[in-house]
Amino acid sequence: MTGGTQHGGTYEDWQRRARELALPTAHLIGGTQEPGGGATFEVVSPRDGRVLAEVAAGGDAEADAAVAAARRAFDHGPWPRTAPADRGRALQRLADLVELHRDELALLISLEMGKPVAEARDIELRAVAATFRWYGQLADKLVDEAPHTPGDALALVTREPVGVVAAVVPWNFPLTMAAWKTAPALAAGCTVVLKPAEQSPLSALRLGALAAEAGLPDGVLNVLAGQGPEAGRALGRHPDVDALAFTGSTGVGRHFLRYAADSNLKRVWLELGGKSPNIVLPDAPDLDRAAATAAWGIFFNQGEMCTAPSRLLVHRAVADRVVDAVVARARTLRVGDPLDPATEMGPLVTAAHRERVLGHVGAAHEDGARLRAGGAATLAETGGHYLLPTVFDRVAADSRLARDEVFGPVLAVQVFDTPEEAVRLANDSVYGLAAGLWTADLSTAHRMSRALRAGTVWVNCYEEGGLEVPFGGVKQSGHGRDKSAHALDKYTDLKTTWIRL
Ligand code: NAD
Repeated sequence: MTGGTQHGGTYEDWQRRARELALPTAHLIGGTQEPGGGATFEVVSPRDGRVLAEVAAGGDAEADAAVAAARRAFDHGPWPRTAPADRGRALQRLADLVELHRDELALLISLEMGKPVAEARDIELRAVAATFRWYGQLADKLVDEAPHTPGDALALVTREPVGVVAAVVPWNFPLTMAAWKTAPALAAGCTVVLKPAEQSPLSALRLGALAAEAGLPDGVLNVLAGQGPEAGRALGRHPDVDALAFTGSTGVGRHFLRYAADSNLKRVWLELGGKSPNIVLPDAPDLDRAAATAAWGIFFNQGEMCTAPSRLLVHRAVADRVVDAVVARARTLRVGDPLDPATEMGPLVTAAHRERVLGHVGAAHEDGARLRAGGAATLAETGGHYLLPTVFDRVAADSRLARDEVFGPVLAVQVFDTPEEAVRLANDSVYGLAAGLWTADLSTAHRMSRALRAGTVWVNCYEEGGLEVPFGGVKQSGHGRDKSAHALDKYTDLKTTWIRL
């Protein structure tokens, strides 16, 4: 079943569908829609500042109910005991349903967090369906170990699901992040409580309903809506959560380590922030492509990307050419309503987040950087949270814009003279999520990528990715790995069984 993928549509189509869309507002706990104790929070659309929905706000009681449902499903339900091939089939049915409801899910994402709907549909939803399909297909391909042991004994090393997993995710790729956590956890036989960000609960609640439709038994995937310091904290401190997978800011990641230390020492997997360097050497095979990719990378998804190449490190010999091309692109990028398929950059997620980003712009001015494009809010008449694509050059290495994660469409340009200086600048960060490198020389590519402290290095490309490769960071970008078979390590325990023969 791959129907529903041919839709897309015009601006008018998307606006009409938005008016007709039913918005989910209740938690999904143990297979039923639960309004919780009555507390709600507003979900505001960044495209016009209007309230989209009042959604149930989970606290301790709702977290208890969701964890208890996941616990029951793990301890007594069929899911962990189901043949892996059958678990895999259910995940692949979920992939089918995601494809079938691709337009609806894309619209929910676009409305709640401002991503251009065409990108939500063609990039994010494709990744979400692919993730459930990939882990669904992997579920029955896993093998355990029987190491060589003395002849009178047999040792088995098996992987067992850890139990109840809480997944706390951000709003920038609401369903991709949810899928990267839940798909491997479910494939491993765990049960899950998913806590979407308070800015983007609608798409996750809908995904939970589709999972039930795909045949996941009650309680296997629960979705708890709510604010981070309430619902997120309750899961972080919950004694009956066995593992917690988090994607979000480095600051909140620290909270989760404390929650675990103060509760049951649950293992915590962290995927955190970034300030990724993108290094352009004078022998880059195609400088125009390097410049176009640098611009695409920092402005894609409004710059709200953990891996955004937010530091452009460019060799002095080619700096003017590359930076001029990036600035020209920034000035022509179409900022507008995310429901318009012609829009290239939508609004920032909230008014508060736009203020924070403008604070970084102010700091860059104060620290002596030169503004080359943007630097201001735009489209005020819409009521939305729009910002112009922004480029600063002459950014000093010790300035705030060179060091702090902005999580918005703001590029910091720094010039270097030697590859050694480029590596030094690149590694001069508390983060280590990703890095880009543009060179035609094979030895330089290998030498520099070895020296770069980052979870992923892209050479002559940026944001290449597939389910078969792991994704994650080093240093204060975290340590867990999403995607690939390695992600299953997070959701399984190794057990050793000795048998005397
Ligand atoms: P955030 O840390 O504010 O929130 C992430 C999640 O944590 C949300 O669900 C939120 O409700 C919850 N939360 C917030 N405060 C909490 C608290 N005190 N206790 C418990 N839970 C709490 O991050 P965000 O603003 O949603 O996302 C942006 C950040 O995410 C950026 O730093 C970005 O780099 C990072 N990110 C990282 C990756 C990655 O894979 N490394 C991917 C996407 C985003």
